[in-house]
Amino acid sequence: MTDTATLYIDGAWVPASDGGTRDIRCPADGELVGAVSEATTADVEKPTPAARGASDGGEWVAVPAPERGDFLLRVAAGLRERKAEFALAETLDTGKRLVESEIDIDDIANCFTYFGKLAGLDAGRIVDAANQAVVSRIEYEPVGVCGLIAPWNYPLLQAAWKIAPALAAGNSFILKPSELTPHTAILMMRLLHDLGLPRGIANLVLGAGDVAGAPLSSHPDVDMVSFTGGLETGKKIAAAAAATVKKVALELGGKNPNVIFADADFDAAVDNALNGAFVHSGQVCSAGARIIVEASIAERFVDELVRRANLIRLGGPFDHNAETGPLISAAHRDKVTAYVAKGVAEGARVRCGGTWGDGELEKGFYYLPTILDRVQRGMSVVVDEAFGPVVTVETFETEDEAVATANDTVYGLAGAVWTQDAGRGQRMSRRLRHGTIWINDYHPYLPQAEWGGFGQSGVGRELGPTGLAEYQEAKHIYQNTEPAVTGWFTEAKDAAIL
Ligand code: NAD
Repeated sequence: MTDTATLYIDGAWVPASDGGTRDIRCPADGELVGAVSEATTADVEKPTPAARGASDGGEWVAVPAPERGDFLLRVAAGLRERKAEFALAETLDTGKRLVESEIDIDDIANCFTYFGKLAGLDAGRIVDAANQAVVSRIEYEPVGVCGLIAPWNYPLLQAAWKIAPALAAGNSFILKPSELTPHTAILMMRLLHDLGLPRGIANLVLGAGDVAGAPLSSHPDVDMVSFTGGLETGKKIAAAAAATVKKVALELGGKNPNVIFADADFDAAVDNALNGAFVHSGQVCSAGARIIVEASIAERFVDELVRRANLIRLGGPFDHNAETGPLISAAHRDKVTAYVAKGVAEGARVRCGGTWGDGELEKGFYYLPTILDRVQRGMSVVVDEAFGPVVTVETFETEDEAVATANDTVYGLAGAVWTQDAGRGQRMSRRLRHGTIWINDYHPYLPQAEWGGFGQSGVGRELGPTGLAEYQEAKHIYQNTEPAVTGWFTEAKDAAIL
C-alpha cells in the first residue's frame, strides 16, 4: 500500500506540505509495507479549523442522536464487509498473526455496534427546581473538537474506542495513530468517507508524536484530548493540555498483578497466566506481568509455567504454527532486552527466555517468552512496565500480603485473582485498586463495561456508558416560564439599607 496523499483533512486526501513520507515495515520480517505521508506541525494545524467549523457549524450534531447511532451501525457493517482488508493491514503493520487481527476487527465492529445502539438512549434529564414556573433540564452536548491519539499495539481497536463514542456524541475529531501503524486508520477514514460522514467531522494526521501529536494537546481550538499510550507521554500531554484547560482522557500503562491462591484450579490458572503474560508477546496494556502466587504451590506452579512457556511457538503473521508474533520494532526489542538485563543485575533469575529468537526469527524483532523469579517488590522489573513477553514471579503467605503486594504499584489498570473460594474472590475484587478485576479469568473485556485505570494508569474511562460521557458536556438549561421582578435591588433612591 503506497499512497503518499494519506492525510485526511476536511474531507480530502492530501500529502504532507513538504512532501515528507515515512516507510512502514512489517516487524515480522522487515519487509516494506508501504509509504505514507508524514505530517509537519503546520499540517496538523490545518484540520483544526475544519474540525472547529464542522463542530460549530452543527451539521453532525444536528443529526438526531439515534440517526448518528444508525451511522455507527453502518460503520460496523462496513467493517465486517471489509474485514479481510482491515485485518491484513493491521497484521502487516504490527506483525501480529492474521487470526488475531481478524479478532480485533470483529471487536472493533462490536464497539461501533455498542455505541451505535447507545447513541440517543439518554436524552438528558429533568431537574426538579421546586418551582412550578421553572423548567430545568440537563442536556448532553458534544465536547466539540477532539484530538484522538492512539498507540501501536491494537492500532485501530484503541482508536475505535475513541472514534465511536466521539461520533455518537456528535463531536468532530482529529485522529493521530501511532507513526508505526497508520494503515488501518487510513482505511477507517476511507470507510467513513464512503458512508457519507459530513466533511470536517473526521480528520487524520500521521507522523511522529512530538510533531504530529503534540499540537493536538496544545492547540486552543482542540477542546479535548483523548490519549492511549505510555505513562511518560501521558504526563506530557496532560501538562500541555493544562495550558488551555482542555478536557483530558488518558489510558496509560499497567503493571498488572495476577494473584494465584493455592486453592485455584491449577491447570486453568497456569494456562491463563501464560495467556495473560504472553498474548501478543506481552504488548498488551493489561498484560498479567506480575504473577503473585501462594508460596505453598509456587515451585510447582512456576515449573509448569516455565515448561509451557518454552513450548510457545513464535512466528510470522501467516505462519499457521505460530502462537504469537514479534515485538513492534528493533528499538522496542532493545528496550525489553535492557529491561531484562537490569532485572538480572538487580538479582532476578531468568527461568526461561531472556533472549532474542534465532534462525528464521532473526528476520523479525522476536523476543522469547521470559519468566523471572527471585524478584522482590521495588526491583525495576517488578515496578516498571516491560510491554514485552516478560513476567515476574513473587510469592505470598496470607490474603493480606497478596493484597498489599498486588496494590504495590503506581499503576492500577487491571488484575486477576485465581481461587475456588467465591467469598475470597469477591473480597479480593473489592480490595484490589485496579480498574478491571478478573476472577478466574484473564484478559476478556466487554464493550458495555468501562475500561480504564486507577492511579497512574490514567484518567477517565473508555467503553460502557462512561466511555460515551467522556465525549459529552452536561449543559443545564433553566427556563422561568413566569418571569417577574425579583425586588432584590430597589428602585427607590432613599430606601434604607437593611
Ligand atoms: P507512546 O506513548 O509512545 O505513543 C502513543 C501515541 O502517542 C503515539 O501515537 C505517539 O506518536 C504519540 N505521542 C508520542 N509523543 C507524543 C507527544 N509528546 N504528544 C502527543 N502525542 C505523542 O505509546 P506506545 O509505545 O505507542 O504504546 C504503548 C503504551 O500504551 C504502553 O505503555 C501501554 O500500556 C499503553 N496502552 C494503554 C492502553 C490502555 O487501555 N490503558 C491500551 C493500549 C496501550
